[in-house]
Amino acid sequence: MLKIIFMLPKIYLLFIGMFALSSCSGLTSNVQEDDLEKYLAKIDVNNMKNHVYNLASDEMNGRKTGEEGQKIAAAYLRDFYSGQNIEAAQNTNNYYQFVPGEYMSNVWYTLDDSENVIAFIEGSDLANEYLVISAHYDHMGVEDGQIMYGADDNGSGTAAILEIARVLQEAKAEGKGPRRSIVLLHCTGEEFGLHGSRYYTENPLYPMDKTIANINIDMIGRNDDKYLDEGNYVYIIGPSRLSNDLDQLIQTTNEQVDKLTLDYTYDALDHPEMIFYRSDHYNFAEKGVPAAFFYGGPHADYHQPTDTADKILYDQLLKRTRLIFASIWQIANRKQSIKPNR
Ligand SMILES: [Zn+2]
Repeated sequence: MLKIIFMLPKIYLLFIGMFALSSCSGLTSNVQEDDLEKYLAKIDVNNMKNHVYNLASDEMNGRKTGEEGQKIAAAYLRDFYSGQNIEAAQNTNNYYQFVPGEYMSNVWYTLDDSENVIAFIEGSDLANEYLVISAHYDHMGVEDGQIMYGADDNGSGTAAILEIARVLQEAKAEGKGPRRSIVLLHCTGEEFGLHGSRYYTENPLYPMDKTIANINIDMIGRNDDKYLDEGNYVYIIGPSRLSNDLDQLIQTTNEQVDKLTLDYTYDALDHPEMIFYRSDHYNFAEKGVPAAFFYGGPHADYHQPTDTADKILYDQLLKRTRLIFASIWQIANRKQSIKPNR
């Protein structure tokens, strides 16, 4: 999650043009209603826990954009996908999309060259429609001699994508979708200004006008003060801005899964925390792509060295990941494409 002081002069109302989507092909699919339940059950919290501990380890040194710890994290992601036989996105260098340091640097700071890490699961009968799943994997590095571990921000979202991808690939291997193609986008440069996602949306690897939605995940491993004692919630930001259909899909899906409390507090554009502008979905929404951001809320360890893996609430991480997986499953496999507002 981007620090509020790093929000560049973007605090103005969005005027987003609508764009035409291709209509659905009407082809039938071999994905059945009850397949979702089967694959949902395969989401394994222990895999996610393992990823969070690895990403928030001393070795990765806070994963600061352009520095060695971030490169180690990038290699970790690449090796994971390669090991799962999930292919690299097209026009990458072995999963890496180069993001130049100059692109991310400005009068306030200079960053070195970095990379988005992007994998791809090709769709079956609707392969030319794309769903981008994003989470940033960079963090703050070392500050005042202390490692900023970034377990929640955003080891949690990164772990969720890896586990979702693993299960989607398993389903694909068994002939169960996804009908639409899925782009797994691990963004760099988020903490300094959402640079990696901005770079992707300006240099997309798949056509933006065929990108039907973005699901973004940032900080889903902790509970905030409002829900400290009751848990079982997630903040939803953004979907109805460009697609009431996407918003409705998430709500309907939630009723079929764990019935979390869906909290829209931060969805308001005029909320003082301005969360809509502070993670990678923003760049997709700005380009007219319906985007939904899943967020666990603020906590005392946000952007502190104390954001460590032992403090993640893995049961919450699992429940939120299940809702995200189920939503992705529906977006990718249902008959109709996500319908934008008009
Ligand atoms: Zn952050």
